[in-house]
Amino acid sequence: MSADPVLTLSDLATWSRPGTSLAVLGHPIKHSISPAMHNAALAGLARRDPRFADWRYFRFEVPPDDLPGALGLLRERGFHGVNLTVPHKILAFGRVAEVDAAARPVGAVNTLRAEPEGWRGFNTDGYGLAAAIRENLGWDLRGADVILLGAGGAARGAAVECLQRGCASLAIANRTPENLAVLLADLAPLAGAIPVRGFSPAAPPADLPAHALVINATSAGLRDSDPLPIDLAALHRPAAVFDMIYNPPETPLLAVAGRLGVARANGLAMLVHQGAKALEIWSGVPAAETAPTMAAAAQAALGGAGR
Ligand code: NDP
Repeated sequence: MSADPVLTLSDLATWSRPGTSLAVLGHPIKHSISPAMHNAALAGLARRDPRFADWRYFRFEVPPDDLPGALGLLRERGFHGVNLTVPHKILAFGRVAEVDAAARPVGAVNTLRAEPEGWRGFNTDGYGLAAAIRENLGWDLRGADVILLGAGGAARGAAVECLQRGCASLAIANRTPENLAVLLADLAPLAGAIPVRGFSPAAPPADLPAHALVINATSAGLRDSDPLPIDLAALHRPAAVFDMIYNPPETPLLAVAGRLGVARANGLAMLVHQGAKALEIWSGVPAAETAPTMAAAAQAALGGAGR
């Protein structure tokens, strides 16, 4: 259980902390391990650089209707940076003064930095995904045949990252065809010469590439009762499976991958690397320097917590 209290907007009304404050906003937020990761990294930085001695990361329970008010109050109270998690990433996209060029095609932001003109939005999830896939599976998205599962916010970020890094091909499966169609239409202008196609997870086409990297960006697997997002055995022997879910650490999809002898990894390293990149945006300290501390803190926090 984390020692970081869950704060609300009423705590902001009376906020008078003098140091550099950072926050994560979500609904629900009580299971977030981001405060444990960031405060461990900040404590490490403070030991070698007094500039970080008064930096601290807080978590706020903010329902969606309260997000605009919360972002205004956080600026008034002098917060330097904000992370956004479910369900705020897309909502915040239209509520910031400026969006970083790399985040614009994603349509969602997970990191905000205070600038004179207002909040500037970034999205570090794609960086986190690419870094985790490289670290855990030894794969580079560049040149990879990717089979992506899901069409929600995380899948959108993953698809944009795959295209921007020059994957060889991208095939996307989603339970609800209408949501898949919207994503495919949004990706079309980014694809260039990269072949992008959609399919039903219930009926994978026979001509999908063999030895592909399968990325699960659905939330199927968070609960024991969830169905598998796809039958891995129906694909042409996938080379590796990356599941963005990290709690539980082994989803049914990853268990099947293990039984099939396919390389696999869960989403914990993605969480760590997107966090380290956010801290880089706020502090200027390269993500590679804080990621190991964040990884250790995340592992420790997951002893009892979830997402
Ligand atoms: P969204 O709610 O935006 O999207 C959910 C997606 O999952 C949709 O494609 C939805 O399909 C699909 N889905 C939901 N339930 C099922 C089911 N029972 N069977 C098949 N498909 C299903 O969520 P996000 O995109 O924000 O998050 C997706 C997952 O990624 C979550 O588990 C989240 O925890 C994880 N994540 C991990 C991160 C990390 O750092 N490791 C970062 C961000 C996300 P449909 O369109 O049919 O509803």
